[in-house]
Amino acid sequence: MSNQKIWLSSPHMGGTEQNYVNEAFESNWVAPLGPNVNGFEKDLEKYIGQESFVGALSSGTAALHLGLIILGVKAGDEVICQSMTFSASANPIMYQGATPIFIDSEKETWNLCPIALEEAIIDRIANGKKPKAIIAVHLYGMPYKVDEIHAVAKKHEIPILEDSAEALGSHYKNQRCGTFGEIGVLSFNGNKIITTSGGGAIVTKNQEAKDKVVFLSTQARDNAPHYQHSEVGYNYRMSNICAGIGRGQMEILDKHVALRRKMHDFYADYFKDIDGVTVLSEPNEDYFSNHWLSAIVIDPSKNNGKTREDLRLALEQENIESRPLWKPMHLQPVFEKYPYYGKDVSEKLFDNGLCLPSGSNLSDDDKNRIKTVLNNFFQ
Ligand SMILES: *Cc1c(COP(=O)(O)O)cnc(C)c1O
Repeated sequence: MSNQKIWLSSPHMGGTEQNYVNEAFESNWVAPLGPNVNGFEKDLEKYIGQESFVGALSSGTAALHLGLIILGVKAGDEVICQSMTFSASANPIMYQGATPIFIDSEKETWNLCPIALEEAIIDRIANGKKPKAIIAVHLYGMPYKVDEIHAVAKKHEIPILEDSAEALGSHYKNQRCGTFGEIGVLSFNGNKIITTSGGGAIVTKNQEAKDKVVFLSTQARDNAPHYQHSEVGYNYRMSNICAGIGRGQMEILDKHVALRRKMHDFYADYFKDIDGVTVLSEPNEDYFSNHWLSAIVIDPSKNNGKTREDLRLALEQENIESRPLWKPMHLQPVFEKYPYYGKDVSEKLFDNGLCLPSGSNLSDDDKNRIKTVLNNFFQ
């Protein structure tokens, strides 16, 4: 067996990406915009359904930022955000000069806890400020508790900015992730389920909102022959080259989702007889995760005191990458002074959780190497 590095999640090209990129070169659509951008947006709209309107952008982070702007978030506003997530979910709140209010996770999907969410909303209103938006995340591709979360948001009339950066291809009750929120966000960063080398998209419910996103993402130029501006603009649009890669990747998206789900099954099967390990899995048939990353929680008290860090180091020894779960935002030095609602669910997940190699391009040889380390560790 070789000792080549096994990555947590690495880009996996399908084969046709280069055709679209070559086309862009041949037609000299190398400069921003062009037919691949429109084509990629149409592909995404068709894929996620629900009569969505998609705007392709330079990153998922840019999509979150414009999403907050579209929802009217301004300096001094409060925005609720799932604490257990990647920092890019929360950073755009700061770009707007708003205040993040962090919320704990629940144990089933590891996403936003509906009970803590409602407690927070009631308390913030009592404090004098109603939150302007809720950022809910489908972590590792697992849909959050859509019905419960949206019921709370609807009751208090607060829009949801749905961070679906990790969940393209996931669905809940047969509706695709990215289409639940007032605004949805997708990412095509290098490690995501499909990649454009770097990129993202915003999902809106009408043409007007999409037009606004496109306007803002291309420097907010008013309709005039010279450069005329009445609003602050951004340079956030996706390039025609990146969109070409995206079009090729759309052709193999479902195949890659199936392969990631197989990696999850590989771990679920492996750990089913090991008492002290839980694999993040769908709570019931309503949920369908793309299993972007397969993740486990290790209970040291049932594994002779061995921790997730011990396993991470054992894998590293064999040149296999794994990573602790996202460290909750309310524990991050940059965010620790902001309000937090909930208990210690996300903290415990962080202490004991580990993401395992999950790529759609792992070979049988790779799986055997992973299995050998697990066998030695859990024997
Ligand atoms: C990757 C990611 C983002 C940011 O997307 P980029 O395209 O990398 O800017 C936002 N939220 C979550 C949960 C992510 O995993």
